[in-house]
Amino acid sequence: MKSAEDTSPILVWLRDDLRLDDNPALAEACQTGRPVVVLFILEDEGPRPLGGAHLWWLHHSLTAFSEAIEKLGGRLILRRGSAAQIVPAVLEEASATALWFNRRYEEDAVARDDDIAAGLEDIDVQRFRAHILHDPSAVKTKTGNSYRVYTPFWKTLSASGEPREPLDPPKRIVPPAGKGPSSDTLAAWKLLPTRPDWSGGLGQAWTPGEAAARKSFEAFCEARLKGYDEGRDLPAEDATSRMSPHLRFGEISPFRLWHMAQTAAGHRKVPAGDLERYEKELVWRDFNYHLLTHFGPLAERNFDPRFDAFPWREAPEELKAWQQGRTGYPLVDAAMRQLWQTGWMHNRMRMVTASFLAKHLLIDWRLGEKWFWDTLVDGDPASNASQWQWVAGSGADAQPFFRIFNPMTQSRKFDPAGAYIRRFVPELADLSDKAIHAPWEEDTATLTRAGVRLGTTYPRPIVDHAAARARALDAFKTMQGEA
Ligand code: FAD
Repeated sequence: MKSAEDTSPILVWLRDDLRLDDNPALAEACQTGRPVVVLFILEDEGPRPLGGAHLWWLHHSLTAFSEAIEKLGGRLILRRGSAAQIVPAVLEEASATALWFNRRYEEDAVARDDDIAAGLEDIDVQRFRAHILHDPSAVKTKTGNSYRVYTPFWKTLSASGEPREPLDPPKRIVPPAGKGPSSDTLAAWKLLPTRPDWSGGLGQAWTPGEAAARKSFEAFCEARLKGYDEGRDLPAEDATSRMSPHLRFGEISPFRLWHMAQTAAGHRKVPAGDLERYEKELVWRDFNYHLLTHFGPLAERNFDPRFDAFPWREAPEELKAWQQGRTGYPLVDAAMRQLWQTGWMHNRMRMVTASFLAKHLLIDWRLGEKWFWDTLVDGDPASNASQWQWVAGSGADAQPFFRIFNPMTQSRKFDPAGAYIRRFVPELADLSDKAIHAPWEEDTATLTRAGVRLGTTYPRPIVDHAAARARALDAFKTMQGEA
């Protein structure tokens, strides 16, 4: 450890924390008054490779972040390759004597960080907590174990006091003397899709970057936090905060969201139930990170090992129909097309579509998780895998396998006027509010009047609901050794 008069540069290695505000590693480094070199590495080994939608987001996020860093006097250094080689090289190029970073939680990434730290001599390595509200190694059950069930986890966290106050962004970044370490250009990374460029819908739906995240959350607090508890289940409404991709890339901190929501609730007389519901959702995210930390690679392994014997079907054509929103179930298809067009899907729709894949089609939840990982802008190492397992029944505190969502009931209840279906499945737009949830139940004249020809303009259901439900329950019994 260097003395207080040390003037050598600190290397701040940023990963899923592309923000100035409430960024402990960056804030503490700038606070020292020493030169700070800010590094981002596009890693080709270690953490799970990013999906296509992630890469689109990352390009725009890095563009915004790099501009923000430059305004403070610093420069964002971009490198691509193996972090194990790049970090020591940049430390040397910058003549830095310290490496500071915010923790990450995926097993591979933690191992990489530990290896890198262990290989550095005479370097002051410091780790900070920025990405989640709790420290997974500090929060324990009464018997000293890690949590497997959400409700007691929430109770413990909510009883342990408010999350810390967020830290202010640095006012200035002191650059190192000379020209500093070299950097790739972002354009050279070619993160944006070209042939074909499928990202038009993402560009319309989102503005990546810290400033946009903050503005969008302010708008949510102003207009939609009140009523969130009820509105959050309706996919046609814009009732949720849409913070998930901003959190995924660390453009906004969960501590900032927590405290902004609290302040807004006080000013705007938001009912306690709405505020608490929002806080509970943020804590679900933390719970998933708790599981990831303590129970390993959730995207690969069933949390409940009994599911290792589950008789999943090989059905590539049905998987493709699900991915492309051609299952013949309007609500499922609307949701899958929302995902493809915008890189995001409403939470209830994620539950309905995941259940449809794992239970109606009996396709291994891992294939669905992978598709979400590639197409979601918020595809998250903890939440995606954990929530897939929750729906499939193999996860911690999971919904039991035999609870099978009925897509028509979900549709009538949560999209009663069919507004969400009409938006994403326009070929059904002229059906009545009653007919739109299950067109195959209508007579030919009704369908013809709405310009629908089943099997031609819109698919017939790829499985019969009742038969698929019975098949799923049978498969579940086999797994339990009951058939
Ligand atoms: P809001 O309702 O505004 O909630 C605020 C924040 O709370 C979210 O941004 C998110 O960080 C957190 N949150 C809300 N619900 C959940 C939840 N059920 N689990 C964990 N955190 C939650 N969320 C991801 O961030 N990344 C994923 O890859 C992801 N995959 C999912 C896959 C499946 C099968 C399911 C059922 C859910 C998944 N979720 C995932 C959780 C949830 O659907 C999204 O977080 C939410 O829809 C994001 O929209 P929002 O920001 O408007 O949420």
